[in-house]
Amino acid sequence: MHTISVENYLKAIYHLEQRDGGRVKTKSIAGALDISLPSVTSMLKSLSADDLVVYERYKGVTLSESGRLAALKVVRKHRLIELFLVSTLDYSWDEVHHEAERLEHAISDDLAARIESFLDFPQFDPHGDPIPAADGTLPSREAHALPLSSLASGSMACLERVLDQDPELLRHLTRIGLVPGARVSILEVLPFDGQVNLNIEGSDEPTSVSRALSNILIVTPL
Ligand SMILES: [Zn+2]
Repeated sequence: MHTISVENYLKAIYHLEQRDGGRVKTKSIAGALDISLPSVTSMLKSLSADDLVVYERYKGVTLSESGRLAALKVVRKHRLIELFLVSTLDYSWDEVHHEAERLEHAISDDLAARIESFLDFPQFDPHGDPIPAADGTLPSREAHALPLSSLASGSMACLERVLDQDPELLRHLTRIGLVPGARVSILEVLPFDGQVNLNIEGSDEPTSVSRALSNILIVTPL
């Protein structure tokens, strides 16, 4: 077991790699974890000594194979906990991230495996994020998935995933019915600011989604 701090670093680097693709800058890690640059640098040296990251000064950092597996293990626990809370304890999807941030460090691999089996080996959490298997493999759906912002008017799509867990945003999405599984048809994409006007199946009124929001809503075209 790694310390909570080490787990949070590995997880942050994993998410930043996913977001930015490739090497992660020290500054991005400092921003994500709200920690000073010198502290991040000294932690990266220690992670590198433990062979969890590959770190070159001024070039940034990537996870080593063992670092990646350790990060995926934390991500796995986080997402299983979120789904467990939503499906068994009536939490809503905007309430679970905060709980999972703490519990992900507390539960054993065995408890995670039992939750996974109790939930019948789910592939995605309530936000549509893929749940890594115990060996670190990720379910693939990502091949056809793309941000809502890349669709043209007239197309139809199913919402798969929301790339932000801000509770206020999630409650807003719940209110307008834009939750994973929702089917939408694009009425219009405004050329000057990228606002998307769309119909959500089951609602009478069209909805508009800002450019920024449409970038973090991941859909599969139908
Ligand atoms: Zn979460």
